[in-house]
Amino acid sequence: MSTLTVTNHNRNVTNFTYVYPVLSRRAGGLSIGINFNINNACNWRCIYCQVPDLKLGAAPEINLDLLAKELRQFLNDVLHGDFYERMNVENEQRVIKDIAIAGNGEPTSLANFDEAVQVIAHIATENSIFPKSHFVLITNGSLIHRETVQNGLKILNDFSGEVWFKMDSATKEGRALVNNSAQMNEAVLKNLTLASNICSTKIQICLVDYQQRGFLESEREGFLNFLTEIKAKTLIQNITIYTLARPSHQPEAIDLKPMALDVMQNFALEIQKLGFDAYAVA
Ligand code: SF4
Repeated sequence: MSTLTVTNHNRNVTNFTYVYPVLSRRAGGLSIGINFNINNACNWRCIYCQVPDLKLGAAPEINLDLLAKELRQFLNDVLHGDFYERMNVENEQRVIKDIAIAGNGEPTSLANFDEAVQVIAHIATENSIFPKSHFVLITNGSLIHRETVQNGLKILNDFSGEVWFKMDSATKEGRALVNNSAQMNEAVLKNLTLASNICSTKIQICLVDYQQRGFLESEREGFLNFLTEIKAKTLIQNITIYTLARPSHQPEAIDLKPMALDVMQNFALEIQKLGFDAYAVA
């Protein structure tokens, strides 16, 4: 018998290709994950990334019929079968909190991202999943300028969905170090503006303590300056600060520690002073 716990994020627990269950402590129930990046490919390489054998690249061509079949089958098992019993899920956790497009790489790199979002929305609607459960896209936000991604966000918005937009640094050096990305603030602001004009968008900041350097003053200052600009120019209101919850699968893992909670909480207070709703989670 398998046991699904908050620490078990094994994407193979149900033997599906695209659909996987996660018991989410943060969400307080079952999160149904959708993984388009079955090749473990991403256009970034974050040093805290938990994807094993991460490669540089995009999501491969998707089999939409298989995605639909798996999601139908899984929802049927959760809603009408004995999924929770088989997985030993505690009673208070037996609720579908969200369907989250996340997975082993950047989901918006899928060539027909909008079609895949439509398939998920259609099957969730057939099963009366929304609006009781949320529809979430977890993204690094770097490809929002693509038309297919914006079309996908429009569908997400039709189902009151949310974009969780990763922003782990607001400096060139910080992004190069943490995300191995050369993206500049101008491009990030443009994509944040596009995303938040289409669909409710939240910023997710992952802070890690690299080589025991703690939270560098240059990073703190970069964030506060950039967030001031974001506040003035976008509709974004919510920011979550989090840290390493599980070991990184990247070579830098040995040099990484979770950021101290008090450092994250103090930073959240500073962000609140800019007018955002900001909080830190351990
Ligand atoms: S964006 Fe996400 S999947 Fe891509 S490297 Fe970073 S943490 Fe991993």
